[in-house]
Amino acid sequence: MNLELTDKVVVVTGASRGIGRAIALGMASEGARVVAVARDKAALDKLAGEARDRSKREAVAIGADLSRLSEVERVVDEVRRACGRIDVLVNNAGAIRGGGFLEIPDAQWLDDWSLKLMGYIRMARAVFPLMKAQGGGRIVNVVGAAARNPTATYLAGGAANAALVNFTKGLADLGAECGVLVTAVSPAATRTERWDQLMEQQAKAAGKTVDEIRAASQAPYKLGRIATPEDIADVVCFLASARASFITGICITVDGGATRGVYA
Ligand code: NAP
Repeated sequence: MNLELTDKVVVVTGASRGIGRAIALGMASEGARVVAVARDKAALDKLAGEARDRSKREAVAIGADLSRLSEVERVVDEVRRACGRIDVLVNNAGAIRGGGFLEIPDAQWLDDWSLKLMGYIRMARAVFPLMKAQGGGRIVNVVGAAARNPTATYLAGGAANAALVNFTKGLADLGAECGVLVTAVSPAATRTERWDQLMEQQAKAAGKTVDEIRAASQAPYKLGRIATPEDIADVVCFLASARASFITGICITVDGGATRGVYA
């Protein structure tokens, strides 16, 4: 299948590790010009080198804290100056912490949402006019299966994810008028550093051991494993590709069949 991603300018946020890194490398393997964004510039430079090796094209690394509006605007400005266009935006940078509802202070909700919720919204708002002016583009939001599966020890994550699924659908209506297709991919448990941290935070909040929480969290996965970052990246690359030209406003849950409910 030819994804027709060759030479496309693809911005991936949260690309220094985990799912974002796998997406950046997956896009590079398809010949895309990758722009990798996160705070850890050294990790991004290393990734950009690997992306160049795969794509045989330029790759750009931009260090930025995307929880701040001024940084989002700087990133989009830098990409426009360096690449002249943005064909695909993958919103992926997120770090919402788990914990007990009554223990998480107001400041933590706002801090965590400033990246995972507002960071996505601000990136989309900054990129949208560029895509509109160039006649189209793709925005893919990496959300999370917690959007449809609330957990008492991860309410800040579930609520942000539910909002982002709604945002994806609404923005898709606006984008349809100008060729901007907007979709979401919701990973369930995925083997990254973040997953290990969440297991520790949720174990503490529930008063259980990490092994107990890990076993309970993995039990619904009938395929006998949780996702790899590449499982998620493959779906993101497909949704950004020419092979998904009639798909917009939807959220695909990548969960190995774990979510209950037939419409998820
Ligand atoms: P991860 O391994 O912790 O990676 C998170 C990425 O976000 C890193 O590249 C990190 O880079 C970047 N980031 C964190 N804070 C940032 C900031 N303030 N500004 C810019 N970049 C920042 O996480 P992951 O598991 O790959 O998760 C990626 C996305 O998938 C997240 O939105 C997460 O909510 C979602 N998700 C993950 C799972 C899972 O089980 N892993 C499940 C559902 C949804 P720096 O530290 O270098 O900034």
